[in-house]
Parts: sequence; structure tokens; C-alpha cells
Amino acid sequence: MTDEAAATPTFRSDVTVELVRSAATDTDVLWAARVSTKGEQSLESLQQDPAKSKGLINFLMRDRHGTPFEHNSMTFFISAPIFVFREFHRHRSGWSYNEESGRYRELQPVFYVPGEERKLVQQGRPGKYEFVEGTAEQHKTVTAAMERAYTQAYAEYQEMLAAGVAREVARAVLPVGLFSSMYATCNARSLMHFLSLRTKAENAKVPSFPQREIEMVGEQMEAHWAQLMPLTHAAFNEHGRVAP
Ligand SMILES: Cc1cc2nc3c(=O)[nH]c(=O)nc-3n(C[C@H](O)[C@H](O)[C@H](O)COP(=O)(O)OP(=O)(O)OC[C@H]3O[C@@H](n4cnc5c(N)ncnc54)[C@H](O)[C@@H]3O)c2cc1C
Repeated sequence: MTDEAAATPTFRSDVTVELVRSAATDTDVLWAARVSTKGEQSLESLQQDPAKSKGLINFLMRDRHGTPFEHNSMTFFISAPIFVFREFHRHRSGWSYNEESGRYRELQPVFYVPGEERKLVQQGRPGKYEFVEGTAEQHKTVTAAMERAYTQAYAEYQEMLAAGVAREVARAVLPVGLFSSMYATCNARSLMHFLSLRTKAENAKVPSFPQREIEMVGEQMEAHWAQLMPLTHAAFNEHGRVAP
């Protein structure tokens, strides 16, 4: 790639979530819950008596016995705009993060522009917003304004780097729509707490009003988790998406 091609901004309207490593099964929950009475025998019990296992997971979820849901681990590689990570990193308990550095590497010109399906217009009062479709004209305005601003900001960044200015100083001109990437490791309990706040669902006991872009990340994480721990995921939904 030429230097010029490398410095040409690209615009994305999606986010990506890859499950890079996991040790997370419904059996881990059962093992943790039953260890006091059954010890290691419980590792075989999911297959032996699935109905009982499902019942126990439901009971733990319903009565909010949370700690058995902590004995597992999922590591995700997430690519999303910086403004999503800013919200993400507020989740402190049961999460570990490592994000790419703007000090040690040159940041790549990949920027977020909302897709056509992104609702653009906000209505309602703080804490209870609703978002409705934007017009074609509004979408055009958003796309043009963002692409123009991103391109200008990245050109200024490049100019400073070319003049010998340190990356950690030059990056100040880059906007929060710039894509970043990180590893995020959590367990099922901390993920459920995250999902309860950062996704919107009809069956949620407590409604939440997440920004759409962090919800897009949450939805992909939830799909991975549901495959790994189907009984726990089903119980989470059955009991109103409240973290135990
Ligand atoms: C829709 C929405 C709008 C938001 N708007 C704003 C905003 O305008 N401004 C803003 O600053 N933030 C905002 N936030 C962020 C929010 O305040 C939380 O920081 C974020 O949701 C993480 O939640 P948490 O603290 O429960 O999660 P975690 O940090 O993961 O904590 C999990 C749980 O651990 C316990 N816990 C963790 N740390 C402590 C502690 N120090 N003391 C006692 N208990 C603790 C609590 O029970 C907590 O619920 C918003 C979040 C959402 C979902």
C-alpha cells in the first residue's frame, strides 16, 4: 500500500465482535452451585439429568444467587468507535480490558458513519428518549459532515506526524468516531449486567436506553454467549434480563 492509500480514510457503519477464547459452559455454573454437596460428581450431572440442571440454573437466576455464574471466562476482540469504548469502560466489575495504543502506533484512518438503518432523530425527555427514522436528507447531511470532518482531522494528524510531532500529541485532533480495537474479558455474570444496561429488550424487567452503537456490540457478544451457555442465557431471558 502506498503512503497516500494508507492515509485515505475509510468509513464503516458496523462494529465487529470476535470470540477469541472461552471457558464457559452451563456445567461450570452447576459445578459451582453444587460443589458444597456433590463435589466433582457434578461435572457429569448436566448430561445425566438435564431437566434438574435447567431447574437449578433457573432457581439461581430467579433468586439472584450470582456467584456460580462467575466461574467462567470469555475473551472478545472488539472493533468499534472510541465513543463506544468510552461507554464500555465504565463497566468496572468483572471486566478486563486491553486497547490498542495511540501512543505506540500510528492510528489507522477508519471512521464510523451511521448506516441507513440507524435512527437519527431523538424525541422525548432525558432518560426516556425514543429514536425515530431520519429523512434521506438528514442521512445525506450526516454522512457528508462526518466524512468531511474525519478527512480533515486525519490530514492534520498526518501533517503533524510528518513534521516529527509525537503520536501521543498529534492524536489530540482525532475524533471519537475513530475506530479502536480491544480485548475484553468477562464472565457470564458481568456480561449479564452489561447486557441488562446496554441492550434493549421487550422482556426486560428494567428498561434501558442504550446508545445504538454499544447495543450493536452487546448483541454480538450475546449471540456468542448464548451458544456457549444456552441454559444460562435462556434463564437470563426468562427472568427479565436482570443480572443475578
Ligand atoms: C443508558 C445509560 C446512560 C448513561 N448515562 C451516563 C451519563 O450521562 N453520565 C455518566 O457518567 N455515566 C452514564 N452512564 C454510565 C453508568 O452510570 C455506569 O457507569 C455504567 O452503566 C456501568 O454500570 P455499573 O457501575 O453498574 O457497572 P460496573 O462498574 O461493572 O459495576 C457493576 C456493579 O458492581 C457494583 N459496584 C461497582 N463499583 C462499585 C462501587 N464503587 N461502589 C459500590 N458498588 C459498586 C454495583 O452494584 C454495580 O452495579 C450511563 C449508562 C447507561 C446504561
